[in-house]
Amino acid sequence: MTRRRSSYRSFASLERDLRVCRACTEAGFHLESRPVLNDYVGQRAYMYGQAPGVVEGNERRPWRGRAGKTLRRWLELDEEEFYGTFYCASVTRCYPGRAPSGRGDRTPTLREQELCSFWRHWELNLLRPELIVPVGGLAIRRLLGLSGLADCIGRTFEHEGAVVVPLPHPSGASSWLNAPANRELAAAAARLVRVELARL
Ligand code: SF4
Repeated sequence: MTRRRSSYRSFASLERDLRVCRACTEAGFHLESRPVLNDYVGQRAYMYGQAPGVVEGNERRPWRGRAGKTLRRWLELDEEEFYGTFYCASVTRCYPGRAPSGRGDRTPTLREQELCSFWRHWELNLLRPELIVPVGGLAIRRLLGLSGLADCIGRTFEHEGAVVVPLPHPSGASSWLNAPANRELAAAAARLVRVELARL
């Protein structure tokens, strides 16, 4: 049964409720994992992805699969540094299963995205991060209201007092990274993240 308080004063209580959230299944959507999250250990940066994949859903920990390895390579962080630096969240937190077309994973519906934005609101409220890194088009759109990777990758933005550096999704599912010019933009964006991390 989903529990949502009118406010949260600690990550401990937020994570207790987030771990058992079933808001989307209660609204009639099919999900293939329980919520995926990594523990709050005092991170000062917030990573915001799209949705967990099958590996993450099984482990119930974000960025465990191949895309996570690529992301850590881009940022020149080992696993310990990565999870200690970033509180990792996503637009939705449960593995949505395969797309009906069979190509890739299902994109969460707008209603699921809205239901899950409750957790982002309280995470950002508690964490007050200095740096936010939205990863992939959906996360960038949800956080900044921007669409079109070419217009925002390699640039910095501001959101509620935090520096925001968008990254393309490292999964390789999108062909956007196939273009050499786009790979240069992605490399520039990763450099920007590393510069911001050095300031934290
Ligand atoms: S995707 Fe988000 S809102 Fe939906 S059940 Fe999972 S944690 Fe809850």
